[in-house]
Amino acid sequence: MQDSYVHKGKRKILVDYLRQKMDIADENVLAAINRVPRHLFLESVFEDYAYEDRAFPILAKQTISHPSTVAEQTALLEIEEKDKVLEIGTGCGYQTAVLMAMKAWVYTIERQKDLHDFSQKKFRELHLRPKFQSFGDGFLGLPTFAPFDKILVTCGAEILPTELLHQLKVGGKMVIPLGKTDEQILTRFTKRSEREFEREEFGAYKFVPMLNDTNH
Ligand code: SAH
Repeated sequence: MQDSYVHKGKRKILVDYLRQKMDIADENVLAAINRVPRHLFLESVFEDYAYEDRAFPILAKQTISHPSTVAEQTALLEIEEKDKVLEIGTGCGYQTAVLMAMKAWVYTIERQKDLHDFSQKKFRELHLRPKFQSFGDGFLGLPTFAPFDKILVTCGAEILPTELLHQLKVGGKMVIPLGKTDEQILTRFTKRSEREFEREEFGAYKFVPMLNDTNH
């Protein structure tokens, strides 16, 4: 598969839709979505639909999030160039690529071996370089590389992973879907001091669950 003018044209229509219909106002996020070829992260059978606002199955019974969800989560993080970002749930690597397109320094963890391997290969093919890519349990974060400016959790957590809040810089932000399996509330924590967090909520979504441990 290649990135043709047809794909680029469809991407532009998607970006206009995200701006006008989904109220995504962060132009840096929209520019990143405009740059990343989402179809290259999907199985070829979905190629024609890759720029519709839809989720699709990826390996290991997981899903790539809707573009509008990726845009919303990324906008809530208020990404700046060279932000050190920890992503939990690499999946197929699309969201990781959007963060890298915004010139963030991305550290990413995936618990499914198939997806870890898939995304690693994909990044190589597309000449994308996360700062660090790990096969592991995101509940533990990456203490060796902490603290982070931003943390993004791309799976739904029933329990707040407090270890991740410890790994956030003061002034940093973590975006995480919180709640039971059928519905989660997109939640943003801003670390005001070592002990104080501001908590904001941004509506209901449905993500695949955040699970303990790794799966080979
Ligand atoms: N951002 C991804 C979305 C993938 S769905 C994309 O663009 O494709 C969420 C991912 O979180 C799944 O791949 C799932 O395996 C992973 N996940 C769930 N629990 C996890 C954990 N504890 N640590 C790391 N990854 C986890």
